[in-house]
Amino acid sequence: MNEDAPQRIPLDTPAASAAVILGCYQIQVGPCVRACGGLTTRYGVHAHPVCLACQHEKPLADAVRRAG
Ligand SMILES: [Zn+2]
Repeated sequence: MNEDAPQRIPLDTPAASAAVILGCYQIQVGPCVRACGGLTTRYGVHAHPVCLACQHEKPLADAVRRAG
């Protein structure tokens, strides 16, 4: 097995499938704000505008936070 990094969900993944993977509702699915080519829980109360794969890359995630 590879390392434990979260898997990036391709943008062409159907929203319904991405929602299952992300554990959110279909309407919450959207592209990562880093434009990394991955989907994330973009909208809603428990949104993660930066996808899990990007969050795993801490320094880059911090850079996005600064960019605001
Ligand atoms: Zn991302």
